[in-house]
Amino acid sequence: MSNQVEELTLHIPDGINYECTGCGTCCGGWSVPMTEEDYFRISDIDWAARKDKFVGKSLFRELKDYESKDTPYTHAIKEGEDGHCPFLVDKLCFIHSQFESSTKPSICQLFPYCFNETPSGIYATVSFVSVGAVNNSGKALSEQREYLEQKLKEFKTLYPEHQPNWSKLQMSTGIPLTWDEYLEHEAKLIELLRDESKTFDQRLLDGSTYLMGELKKKRESSSSSPQPVSLDSAPALKGLDKQLLVALHSIYFPVKTLGRGEQNFNFYRFLYQSIFLGFLPPRIKVLMKSYSFEELEKMEFPFGDEEIDNLIYRYLFQRIFGKLYFGAGFGQLSLIVGFHHLSIIYALLKLQSKALAKARGAEKVSYLDVVAAVRQLEKRLGETALDGMAAATYELLMFSHTRLSRILAHS
Ligand code: SF4
Repeated sequence: MSNQVEELTLHIPDGINYECTGCGTCCGGWSVPMTEEDYFRISDIDWAARKDKFVGKSLFRELKDYESKDTPYTHAIKEGEDGHCPFLVDKLCFIHSQFESSTKPSICQLFPYCFNETPSGIYATVSFVSVGAVNNSGKALSEQREYLEQKLKEFKTLYPEHQPNWSKLQMSTGIPLTWDEYLEHEAKLIELLRDESKTFDQRLLDGSTYLMGELKKKRESSSSSPQPVSLDSAPALKGLDKQLLVALHSIYFPVKTLGRGEQNFNFYRFLYQSIFLGFLPPRIKVLMKSYSFEELEKMEFPFGDEEIDNLIYRYLFQRIFGKLYFGAGFGQLSLIVGFHHLSIIYALLKLQSKALAKARGAEKVSYLDVVAAVRQLEKRLGETALDGMAAATYELLMFSHTRLSRILAHS
């Protein structure tokens, strides 16, 4: 395996920068997971003897079955009372300052670098949970090749089991796709995403129109491919569109800590919510408030704001470049549904940013609202796993080009 990996090309995205800004923000808001090796290495150290704040403190916990399922992790560092990792001292990692980087939990050693192995090589990206990555701070990744190669080696040592299965590629359910065909489609999707003369809603919808046209060619069907939809004339959201958005929002932007069965998309819960709770007006919840779709639609999402546009572009580009939206990159979704899901995620980002702005009493969405929404979404997408039933439900609910047009137009 290792020889094979060394031969694979490491692809680095253009236009993406990263350097740690030392703000300490990334070390908060989560319970840092640890492999068994991490746990024994770190818990063996007498932390109380090194700093008073650790005296009498229980710093670690075992992960529950549902938390550790399909992950290399067995334990976690307990979040401190202030919501930060207890090892964050004066905005610096105490483990790192007392020992060296290699003593820290594996996930912290690699953070925010991510690597995805595919048939055409390994694709590097940075997680937008990191404030430095979100703000595009520091040197371009393309100028850090040697460092990234070193990180990739560490990644392979820490996660030897990382072997994504790309053999089940599909354009849509039942329509297979080769990797070379995929790469052609990806180039087109990125070209469309780069068209600055259009809004992101239109760029994503154009991507969908392109893929649906390619699907028709593949099927050699005489049925007509969807006509490009105008966002201006897209009909209002239907009940099921709203239920879908509420269900996804509650998973990707939870207002409380999620328990067993709540972390991932659950078909039965969605069915229950759609049928039995369908008579309740669907609302987007944020902090202690909730908003109707109509209220949020009235608020404009800023397009043409250089900072926000740049952030959204980098976010969507990285997901596509890193192949983190379909196939082995996300729940084994087909290409079309993976791309539609990514587009719906953008719609959710708009809704969440507006709701955050409203909750703080503002009339306009700010860059910081979008940053908060992107970081939360990125974190949850990294934790979310789609089982077969959930993926099948996504295929059913997110294949429609016209549903996508309604969602993009009215979010
Ligand atoms: S262990 Fe160190 S690097 Fe990791 S979250 Fe805690 S303070 Fe941050």
